Amino acid sequence: MTALREILLRRIAATGPMSVADYMTECLLHPVHGYYTTRDPLGAGGDFTTAPEISQMFGELIGLSLAQAWLDQGAPSAFVLAEPGPGRGTLMADILRATAHVPGLHDAARLHLVEASPALRAAQARVLPHATWHDRLDQLPEELPLFLIANEFFDALPIRQFIRDGNGWRERVVGRDEDELVFGLTSPLPLADLEHRLDDTQDGDMVEVSPALPALIGEIGGRIAASGGAALIVDYGGRGGTGDSFQAVRNHRKVDPLTEPGEADLTAHVDFETLARASVPAACAGPVPQGVFLERLGITERARALASRLDGAALDRHVAAHRRLTHPEEMGDLFKVAALHPCNAPPPPGTEP
Ligand code: SAH
Repeated sequence: MTALREILLRRIAATGPMSVADYMTECLLHPVHGYYTTRDPLGAGGDFTTAPEISQMFGELIGLSLAQAWLDQGAPSAFVLAEPGPGRGTLMADILRATAHVPGLHDAARLHLVEASPALRAAQARVLPHATWHDRLDQLPEELPLFLIANEFFDALPIRQFIRDGNGWRERVVGRDEDELVFGLTSPLPLADLEHRLDDTQDGDMVEVSPALPALIGEIGGRIAASGGAALIVDYGGRGGTGDSFQAVRNHRKVDPLTEPGEADLTAHVDFETLARASVPAACAGPVPQGVFLERLGITERARALASRLDGAALDRHVAAHRRLTHPEEMGDLFKVAALHPCNAPPPPGTEP
């Protein structure tokens, strides 16, 4: 039995079943046994692979989109370049390389990273030695324009799950059965926060709520509306909808989220409907499918240019990476890109309606 399972079983015995959100938080961020606290989970030898780890093209094109947004807003002479959840720092390193020749941009950029994991902070420091680190988004410096990128950050935020029962809702919770962690349901209660979901759901439907998402997006949107800037948010998910998207991945395979707490990555779909509503007073463009976003920014031309210098297995890998990022049956459709921008400035290229 893992140490974290023991801790969770004891907690449930003492104070009762916990929400899926509390379970996610403990599993991912427990200060001693949390999944992100203890390891670098990325890459072929890890548990999952993300777009920037698949190909340099992803970060390069995002860098050019952000650079154009900075130019469109008059190339402010000082701005915060921020990334929450930067993983190994690969995406930001690709952004910086791709924007190195944009006159004035690097002199104006102050690099700020938001990272909860000590293990990943160490990995980021190796490729981004000049960054400043923070524990939370609201610690980013205020008053300067904020240009922000987040890839697969919001899917790690804890979610609560509710199943409709009449005009009330049962919450899905994690409880115990002897030495096993098991799912359970609370008795049904009417919930004011889910009143608006009574129109588009039926008995038995599951809806998911991310309690932290509106506050975090509100924080970013408020700063962008007040001081300028833009945010590109890339994640898997859709608009509203119903169903269970809570999943655990270990060693590139889906596993049961309750069997090995702290040993698997836990995620849920991002609700872009809630995200768009929370961005006010900033404007929200998109979401557009990742494949469409990358094609609009010229990924095919970039892929051809890189291919001309490759052959053999390296060329095969490059062609496969292009397909994986853009094809609708791979990441092209499931992943979406939304942008926050000031109402009086155009959205970053690639996210236009
Ligand atoms: N963006 C990277 C990594 C995605 S993995 C990439 O595309 O490769 C998720 C990242 O978010 C990790 O760096 C993880 O440590 C971080 N993270 C997860 N929850 C967090 C939280 N609540 N606060 C800060 N960072 C968090």
